[in-house]
Amino acid sequence: MERVASKDEARRAAAEARAEGKTIALVPTMGALHEGHLSLVRAACERADYVVVSVFVNPTQFGPGEDFETYPRDLDADLQLLAAEGVDLVFVPSAAVMYAPDASVTVDPGSLASRWEGEIRPGHFVGVATVVTKLLSIVRPDLAYFGEKDYQQLQVVCALVRDLDLGVGVVGRPIVRDRDGLALSSRNARLSPSQRQAALAIPAALEAAAQALAWGEREARALERAMFEHLAGVEGLSLDYAVVVDPDTLEPLEQVQRSARALVAARIGDIHLIDNCGLEPPATPASEGATTRE
Ligand code: AMP
Repeated sequence: MERVASKDEARRAAAEARAEGKTIALVPTMGALHEGHLSLVRAACERADYVVVSVFVNPTQFGPGEDFETYPRDLDADLQLLAAEGVDLVFVPSAAVMYAPDASVTVDPGSLASRWEGEIRPGHFVGVATVVTKLLSIVRPDLAYFGEKDYQQLQVVCALVRDLDLGVGVVGRPIVRDRDGLALSSRNARLSPSQRQAALAIPAALEAAAQALAWGEREARALERAMFEHLAGVEGLSLDYAVVVDPDTLEPLEQVQRSARALVAARIGDIHLIDNCGLEPPATPASEGATTRE
Protein backbone atom coordinates (compact mmCIF):
# COMPACT_ATOMS: atom_id res chain seq x y z
CA MET A 1 0.00 0.00 0.00
CA GLU A 2 1.37 3.35 -1.04
CA ARG A 3 0.81 6.38 1.18
CA VAL A 4 1.07 9.89 -0.26
CA ALA A 5 0.54 13.34 1.16
CA SER A 6 0.73 15.58 -1.90
CA LYS A 7 -1.84 16.15 -4.62
CA ASP A 8 0.81 15.57 -7.31
CA GLU A 9 1.79 12.18 -5.90
CA ALA A 10 -1.84 11.13 -5.62
CA ARG A 11 -2.56 12.32 -9.16
CA ARG A 12 0.53 10.52 -10.49
CA ALA A 13 -0.21 7.22 -8.75
CA ALA A 14 -3.82 7.22 -9.98
CA ALA A 15 -2.70 8.19 -13.50
CA GLU A 16 -0.29 5.23 -13.56
CA ALA A 17 -3.09 2.85 -12.57
CA ARG A 18 -5.33 4.39 -15.24
CA ALA A 19 -2.60 3.98 -17.86
CA GLU A 20 -2.43 0.28 -16.97
CA GLY A 21 -6.14 0.04 -17.78
CA LYS A 22 -7.19 -0.39 -14.15
CA THR A 23 -10.61 0.59 -12.87
CA ILE A 24 -10.13 3.11 -10.06
CA ALA A 25 -12.35 3.55 -7.01
CA LEU A 26 -12.12 6.34 -4.45
CA VAL A 27 -13.40 6.12 -0.86
CA PRO A 28 -13.29 9.56 0.78
CA THR A 29 -13.09 9.46 4.60
CA MET A 30 -12.19 11.63 7.56
CA GLY A 31 -10.34 8.74 9.23
CA ALA A 32 -10.88 7.18 12.68
CA LEU A 33 -12.01 4.27 10.58
CA HIS A 34 -14.59 1.71 11.67
CA GLU A 35 -16.53 -1.14 10.08
CA GLY A 36 -18.80 1.35 8.28
CA HIS A 37 -15.86 2.82 6.41
CA LEU A 38 -14.42 -0.65 5.86
CA SER A 39 -17.67 -1.82 4.29
CA LEU A 40 -17.18 0.88 1.65
CA VAL A 41 -13.55 -0.12 1.18
CA ARG A 42 -14.48 -3.79 0.78
CA ALA A 43 -17.17 -2.99 -1.77
CA ALA A 44 -14.66 -0.82 -3.67
CA CYS A 45 -12.02 -3.57 -3.59
CA GLU A 46 -14.53 -6.06 -4.97
CA ARG A 47 -15.42 -3.88 -7.92
CA ALA A 48 -12.28 -1.92 -8.81
CA ASP A 49 -8.71 -2.88 -9.68
CA TYR A 50 -7.15 0.05 -7.87
CA VAL A 51 -8.62 1.45 -4.65
CA VAL A 52 -7.75 4.87 -3.27
CA VAL A 53 -8.82 5.93 0.23
CA SER A 54 -8.46 9.53 1.30
CA VAL A 55 -8.09 10.32 4.99
CA PHE A 56 -8.67 14.02 5.52
CA VAL A 57 -10.53 15.82 8.29
CA ASN A 58 -11.77 18.59 6.07
CA PRO A 59 -11.80 21.86 8.03
CA THR A 60 -14.09 23.64 5.58
CA GLN A 61 -17.04 21.39 6.37
CA PHE A 62 -16.92 22.24 10.08
CA GLY A 63 -18.58 25.44 11.25
CA PRO A 64 -17.25 27.76 13.96
CA GLY A 65 -17.72 26.12 17.36
CA GLU A 66 -18.10 22.63 15.86
CA ASP A 67 -15.85 19.71 16.75
CA PHE A 68 -13.05 20.05 14.17
CA GLU A 69 -10.38 20.18 16.90
CA THR A 70 -11.75 17.25 18.89
CA TYR A 71 -12.80 15.08 15.92
CA PRO A 72 -11.24 11.63 16.55
CA ARG A 73 -8.00 10.99 14.67
CA ASP A 74 -5.91 7.78 14.61
CA LEU A 75 -3.87 7.60 11.44
CA ASP A 76 -1.66 4.67 12.49
CA ALA A 77 -4.67 2.44 13.19
CA ASP A 78 -6.31 3.64 9.95
CA LEU A 79 -3.26 2.72 7.88
CA GLN A 80 -3.13 -0.75 9.41
CA LEU A 81 -6.81 -1.37 8.70
CA LEU A 82 -6.52 -0.14 5.11
CA ALA A 83 -3.40 -2.21 4.43
CA ALA A 84 -5.21 -5.30 5.71
CA GLU A 85 -8.07 -4.64 3.27
CA GLY A 86 -5.67 -4.52 0.32
CA VAL A 87 -6.09 -0.82 -0.46
CA ASP A 88 -3.63 0.40 -3.09
CA LEU A 89 -3.23 4.07 -2.27
CA VAL A 90 -3.93 6.15 0.83
CA PHE A 91 -4.03 9.88 0.29
CA VAL A 92 -3.42 11.78 3.53
CA PRO A 93 -3.10 15.48 2.69
CA SER A 94 -2.77 18.26 5.25
CA ALA A 95 -5.19 21.17 5.16
CA ALA A 96 -2.35 23.34 3.84
CA VAL A 97 -1.81 20.90 0.96
CA MET A 98 -5.51 20.75 0.11
CA TYR A 99 -6.21 24.47 0.31
CA ALA A 100 -3.81 27.09 -1.04
CA PRO A 101 -3.74 30.13 1.27
CA ASP A 102 -5.41 32.26 -1.41
CA ALA A 103 -7.99 29.63 -2.48
CA SER A 104 -11.34 31.35 -2.86
CA VAL A 105 -13.41 29.19 -5.23
CA THR A 106 -16.00 26.90 -3.63
CA VAL A 107 -18.67 24.60 -5.01
CA ASP A 108 -22.34 25.47 -4.52
CA PRO A 109 -23.98 22.22 -3.33
CA GLY A 110 -27.37 23.19 -4.77
CA SER A 111 -30.91 22.97 -3.47
CA LEU A 112 -30.63 19.57 -1.76
CA ALA A 113 -28.19 21.14 0.69
CA SER A 114 -30.51 23.82 2.01
CA ARG A 115 -32.53 21.77 4.50
CA TRP A 116 -31.75 19.55 7.50
CA GLU A 117 -27.99 19.30 7.99
CA GLY A 118 -27.55 22.29 5.69
CA GLU A 119 -29.79 24.35 7.93
CA ILE A 120 -28.29 23.41 11.27
CA ARG A 121 -24.72 23.42 9.92
CA PRO A 122 -24.52 26.46 7.63
CA GLY A 123 -21.71 26.07 5.09
CA HIS A 124 -21.27 22.36 5.82
CA PHE A 125 -22.29 21.14 2.38
CA VAL A 126 -20.29 23.85 0.60
CA GLY A 127 -17.26 22.36 2.37
CA VAL A 128 -18.32 18.81 1.47
CA ALA A 129 -19.08 19.61 -2.19
CA THR A 130 -15.81 21.52 -2.55
CA VAL A 131 -13.61 18.84 -1.02
CA VAL A 132 -15.36 16.01 -2.89
CA THR A 133 -14.94 17.90 -6.18
CA LYS A 134 -11.25 18.42 -5.42
CA LEU A 135 -10.69 14.75 -4.48
CA LEU A 136 -12.49 13.60 -7.63
CA SER A 137 -10.41 15.99 -9.74
CA ILE A 138 -7.15 14.77 -8.21
CA VAL A 139 -7.84 11.01 -8.35
CA ARG A 140 -10.25 10.96 -11.32
CA PRO A 141 -11.77 7.64 -10.21
CA ASP A 142 -14.30 5.61 -12.19
CA LEU A 143 -16.28 5.00 -9.01
CA ALA A 144 -16.65 6.86 -5.71
CA TYR A 145 -18.10 5.18 -2.61
CA PHE A 146 -20.26 6.91 0.01
CA GLY A 147 -22.34 5.61 2.92
CA GLU A 148 -26.09 6.02 3.35
CA LYS A 149 -25.26 6.88 6.95
CA ASP A 150 -24.81 10.44 5.67
CA TYR A 151 -27.91 10.20 3.51
CA GLN A 152 -28.23 13.88 2.64
CA GLN A 153 -24.51 14.02 1.80
CA LEU A 154 -24.95 11.06 -0.55
CA GLN A 155 -27.81 12.84 -2.33
CA VAL A 156 -25.82 16.08 -2.52
CA VAL A 157 -22.87 14.21 -4.02
CA CYS A 158 -25.11 12.46 -6.58
CA ALA A 159 -26.52 15.85 -7.63
CA LEU A 160 -23.04 17.38 -7.73
CA VAL A 161 -21.71 14.65 -10.00
CA ARG A 162 -24.78 14.78 -12.23
CA ASP A 163 -25.11 18.56 -12.50
CA LEU A 164 -21.40 19.28 -12.98
CA ASP A 165 -20.88 16.28 -15.32
CA LEU A 166 -18.05 14.94 -13.20
CA GLY A 167 -18.19 11.58 -14.95
CA VAL A 168 -17.81 9.31 -11.93
CA GLY A 169 -20.14 6.55 -10.79
CA VAL A 170 -21.39 7.27 -7.27
CA VAL A 171 -22.02 4.11 -5.26
CA GLY A 172 -24.10 4.38 -2.07
CA ARG A 173 -23.72 1.67 0.54
CA PRO A 174 -25.97 0.65 3.47
CA ILE A 175 -25.51 1.81 7.05
CA VAL A 176 -23.41 -0.45 9.26
CA ARG A 177 -24.67 -0.58 12.84
CA ASP A 178 -23.29 -1.76 16.15
CA ARG A 179 -24.99 -4.72 17.83
CA ASP A 180 -27.12 -2.37 19.92
CA GLY A 181 -28.40 -0.66 16.77
CA LEU A 182 -26.36 2.54 16.97
CA ALA A 183 -25.06 3.51 13.53
CA LEU A 184 -21.27 3.35 13.52
CA SER A 185 -19.70 6.78 13.52
CA SER A 186 -16.21 8.03 14.29
CA ARG A 187 -17.87 10.42 16.75
CA ASN A 188 -19.25 7.47 18.82
CA ALA A 189 -15.77 7.12 20.31
CA ARG A 190 -16.42 10.37 22.20
CA LEU A 191 -19.67 9.15 23.82
CA SER A 192 -19.54 8.27 27.53
CA PRO A 193 -21.45 5.10 28.52
CA SER A 194 -24.48 7.15 29.63
CA GLN A 195 -24.35 9.27 26.47
CA ARG A 196 -24.22 6.13 24.40
CA GLN A 197 -27.32 4.88 26.19
CA ALA A 198 -29.07 8.15 25.33
CA ALA A 199 -27.91 7.85 21.71
CA LEU A 200 -29.74 4.53 21.39
CA ALA A 201 -32.99 6.52 21.32
CA ILE A 202 -32.06 7.50 17.75
CA PRO A 203 -32.17 4.02 16.15
CA ALA A 204 -35.13 3.19 18.41
CA ALA A 205 -36.99 6.20 16.98
CA LEU A 206 -36.26 5.13 13.41
CA GLU A 207 -37.39 1.62 14.23
CA ALA A 208 -40.62 3.01 15.70
CA ALA A 209 -41.34 4.92 12.49
CA ALA A 210 -40.70 1.81 10.38
CA GLN A 211 -42.91 -0.23 12.71
CA ALA A 212 -45.78 2.27 12.60
CA LEU A 213 -45.57 2.21 8.80
CA ALA A 214 -45.64 -1.59 8.81
CA TRP A 215 -48.79 -1.42 10.96
CA GLY A 216 -50.51 0.69 8.34
CA GLU A 217 -49.80 4.30 9.33
CA ARG A 218 -49.28 6.44 6.22
CA GLU A 219 -49.38 9.97 7.66
CA ALA A 220 -45.87 11.39 7.77
CA ARG A 221 -46.71 13.56 10.82
CA ALA A 222 -47.85 10.45 12.73
CA LEU A 223 -44.61 8.65 11.84
CA GLU A 224 -42.67 11.71 13.01
CA ARG A 225 -44.67 11.69 16.26
CA ALA A 226 -43.69 8.05 16.73
CA MET A 227 -40.06 9.18 16.48
CA PHE A 228 -40.51 12.16 18.86
CA GLU A 229 -41.96 9.83 21.47
CA HIS A 230 -38.64 8.01 21.61
CA LEU A 231 -36.50 11.13 21.48
CA ALA A 232 -38.35 13.64 23.64
CA GLY A 233 -37.31 13.65 27.25
CA VAL A 234 -34.17 11.57 26.76
CA GLU A 235 -31.74 13.07 29.23
CA GLY A 236 -28.74 14.68 27.58
CA LEU A 237 -30.19 14.40 24.07
CA SER A 238 -31.15 17.52 22.19
CA LEU A 239 -33.13 16.82 19.02
CA ASP A 240 -32.36 18.80 15.86
CA TYR A 241 -34.86 17.11 13.55
CA ALA A 242 -36.78 13.86 13.05
CA VAL A 243 -38.52 13.97 9.70
CA VAL A 244 -40.03 11.82 6.97
CA VAL A 245 -38.92 12.98 3.54
CA ASP A 246 -38.96 12.12 -0.12
CA PRO A 247 -35.82 9.98 -0.66
CA ASP A 248 -34.74 11.95 -3.75
CA THR A 249 -35.75 15.56 -3.12
CA LEU A 250 -35.47 15.39 0.70
CA GLU A 251 -38.64 17.48 0.89
CA PRO A 252 -41.03 16.69 3.76
CA LEU A 253 -43.84 14.32 2.86
CA GLU A 254 -47.48 14.43 3.90
CA GLN A 255 -48.16 10.76 3.17
CA VAL A 256 -45.93 7.73 2.68
CA GLN A 257 -47.39 5.95 -0.33
CA ARG A 258 -44.05 4.88 -1.83
CA SER A 259 -40.41 4.69 -0.66
CA ALA A 260 -39.51 7.43 1.80
CA ARG A 261 -36.67 8.19 4.19
CA ALA A 262 -36.73 9.00 7.87
CA LEU A 263 -33.91 11.34 8.93
CA VAL A 264 -32.84 12.07 12.51
CA ALA A 265 -30.19 14.41 13.89
CA ALA A 266 -29.48 15.07 17.54
CA ARG A 267 -26.79 16.44 19.77
CA ILE A 268 -25.56 14.61 22.82
CA GLY A 269 -23.34 17.04 24.69
CA ASP A 270 -21.37 18.61 21.86
CA ILE A 271 -21.48 15.39 19.82
CA HIS A 272 -23.57 15.63 16.67
CA LEU A 273 -25.15 12.32 15.62
CA ILE A 274 -27.20 11.60 12.50
CA ASP A 275 -28.99 8.49 11.37
CA ASN A 276 -31.71 7.52 8.92
CA CYS A 277 -33.63 4.60 7.51
CA GLY A 278 -35.56 3.73 4.40
CA LEU A 279 -39.35 3.54 4.80
CA GLU A 280 -41.05 1.10 2.46
CA PRO A 281 -44.83 0.94 2.71
CA PRO A 282 -45.97 -2.67 2.55
CA ALA A 283 -47.68 -3.52 -0.72
CA THR A 284 -51.45 -3.02 -0.55
CA PRO A 285 -53.66 -5.88 -1.81
CA ALA A 286 -54.33 -3.81 -4.97
CA SER A 287 -50.66 -3.26 -5.71
CA GLU A 288 -49.89 -6.91 -4.89
CA GLY A 289 -52.43 -7.84 -7.54
CA ALA A 290 -50.78 -5.47 -9.98
CA THR A 291 -47.38 -6.98 -9.26
CA THR A 292 -48.69 -10.50 -9.80
CA ARG A 293 -50.15 -9.55 -13.13
CA GLU A 294 -46.85 -8.05 -14.38
P1 AMP B 1 -16.66 10.09 7.42
O1 AMP B 1 -15.28 9.59 7.73
O2 AMP B 1 -17.55 10.16 8.60
O3 AMP B 1 -16.64 11.35 6.59
O4 AMP B 1 -17.31 8.98 6.50
C1 AMP B 1 -16.70 8.58 5.31
C2 AMP B 1 -17.67 7.75 4.53
O5 AMP B 1 -18.04 6.60 5.30
C3 AMP B 1 -18.97 8.51 4.21
O6 AMP B 1 -19.37 8.21 2.89
C4 AMP B 1 -19.92 7.97 5.24
O7 AMP B 1 -21.27 8.03 4.84
C5 AMP B 1 -19.44 6.53 5.37
N1 AMP B 1 -19.87 5.97 6.65
C6 AMP B 1 -19.67 6.50 7.88
N2 AMP B 1 -20.28 5.74 8.82
C7 AMP B 1 -20.88 4.72 8.17
C8 AMP B 1 -21.69 3.61 8.59
N3 AMP B 1 -22.00 3.39 9.85
N4 AMP B 1 -22.14 2.77 7.63
C9 AMP B 1 -21.86 2.97 6.33
N5 AMP B 1 -21.11 4.00 5.87
C10 AMP B 1 -20.63 4.87 6.78
